[in-house]
Amino acid sequence: MKYLSDIEIAQEKELIHIKKVAEKLGVEEDDLEMYGKYKAKLPLNLIDEEKIKRNNLILVTAITPTPAGEGKTTVSIGLTEGLNKIGKQATVVLREPSLGPVFGIKGGAAGGGYSQVVPMEDINLHFTGDFNAVEKANNLLSALIDNNLQSRCCTLNLDPRTILWKRVIDMNDRSLRNITIGLGGTANGIPREDGFNITPASEVMAILCMATDFEDLKKRLGNILIGFTFDKDPIFARDLKAENAMAILLKQAIRPNLVQTLEENPAIIHGGPFANIAQGTNTIIATKMGLSLSNYVVTEGGFGADLGAEKFLNIKCQAANLNPKAVVLVATIKALRHHGGAQKDKLEIPNLDFVKDGFCNLEKHIENIRKFNIEPVVAINTFKSDSYEEIDFIIRECEKLNVNAVVCDCWSKGGEGTKKLAQAVVNIVESSKSTFKPLYSWDSPVKEKIETIAKEIYGADSVDFDKKAKLNLKRIDSLGFNDFAICMAKTQKSFSDNEFLRGRPRNFVVTVREIEIAAGAEFIIPILGQMMRMPGLPSNPASENMTIDKDGIIFGLS
Ligand code: ADP
Ligand code: MG
Repeated sequence: MKYLSDIEIAQEKELIHIKKVAEKLGVEEDDLEMYGKYKAKLPLNLIDEEKIKRNNLILVTAITPTPAGEGKTTVSIGLTEGLNKIGKQATVVLREPSLGPVFGIKGGAAGGGYSQVVPMEDINLHFTGDFNAVEKANNLLSALIDNNLQSRCCTLNLDPRTILWKRVIDMNDRSLRNITIGLGGTANGIPREDGFNITPASEVMAILCMATDFEDLKKRLGNILIGFTFDKDPIFARDLKAENAMAILLKQAIRPNLVQTLEENPAIIHGGPFANIAQGTNTIIATKMGLSLSNYVVTEGGFGADLGAEKFLNIKCQAANLNPKAVVLVATIKALRHHGGAQKDKLEIPNLDFVKDGFCNLEKHIENIRKFNIEPVVAINTFKSDSYEEIDFIIRECEKLNVNAVVCDCWSKGGEGTKKLAQAVVNIVESSKSTFKPLYSWDSPVKEKIETIAKEIYGADSVDFDKKAKLNLKRIDSLGFNDFAICMAKTQKSFSDNEFLRGRPRNFVVTVREIEIAAGAEFIIPILGQMMRMPGLPSNPASENMTIDKDGIIFGLS
């Protein structure tokens, strides 16, 4: 049997007009700002705090992933279809894809198989221009910084060697990581070292996703820490009077985008911060919009639960006062084989012993979710290579932990394959078993917050702070940023900061090398290893397999 590719399935679908999707949310056509027939922006005045409190927020997260991803986006979309199938009004709220992965290794981020959001090509490519707006707002600040260095009349006395702010572009392009700018003589700027990050790694993206409204957005943009003067005083974006101009560029980007799933249910897709050095989840505004218009909202946190769920719960839910009712923990047999020791070329081959040895990874994630007083459901995202014995083993082991593990087949069957998972989620929500509590309070000391995450979530014995990190802690204190949230930057491949430790590592210490400040996003970012802010392309990038015909039909986008 030949399986259709993601793009073939998406192109086969006859889409309904976006006003019909809006109708399902009780939103009138007049309120929509249309981007063609199948995409629209939603106005912020539809956000309703009372409804947000009444409706149900579900987080989809995963066990420690293999590089291909374990299917969180696919399950989030499939679960939304399943909830609608069993009679619940549900909306999926997701991040916007970045062009880097689309043309690199991972491919698009609009789900897969029969659980996708559409129009798939538009969503994966330029969509409604939000990434472009973030890039421009970021680079406007860069231009203002270099202009001020050049200026003689209104100089801020900024020391060019201390500038923290970088330019961004939404592309995997390693040769832009470190560059020299301002060459060519006195008329062409002050020479200095600079570099490019990928757009989802921009603090502007993190800010857009944390902002609660336009005023908050402006305030946060103004609070961006740019660098220091020759006298070591901090300089912020507001010192360059940058925040209003940057916010003007984000006027449209702050409004969430409405599209549809393959089964014509509503999907809100908005914002796209990285999950390694940023919060890895869609905008607070989009999540609140979903909860204002829909009884169930299904959303996703990037990477494994030690990063995505931890940040979603401690950062986003605390900042926005959100109260998630259930967490779906996506597990694949393939990833459990990996955690049990299977090598890359053996991941697709059934092997109960590997699954038994790898189960400890899932077990630790289950324990972690319960630390937030939330009941998890395990979604076994099945692949063709899964054996009955392996699946049965997981279900029985989860039963021993009093956790419901449900097989979900959303990739090949859409909502029909997730009705059981949907019912399991509804059971948790209706039993009121979850009473969310964050793991730490933002006003505890920075060091204590970092140690809490490392010990409780990663299972570390202790945290080492390198010399540079200790100096950074002093600076954070002197700048008065102790009350910020902690946004950990750690490998997604392991609970620890050593990517080779699979399963459930024990007896280890994590090392904080340095600590960055994202003053606009209100994050402290402890760096636990080398963090990728500008990925490179592989030797054979996905772009090589893509074509477009004379009618503009795209092939090979995955
Ligand atoms: P994540 O959000 O966890 O990174 P995605 O949902 O984007 O993962 O899925 C990663 C890739 O795996 C996608 O290409 C998707 O089509 C594919 N995929 C997901 N679930 C399945 C499945 N059950 N069978 C086959 N392929 C799948
Ligand atoms: Mg995803």
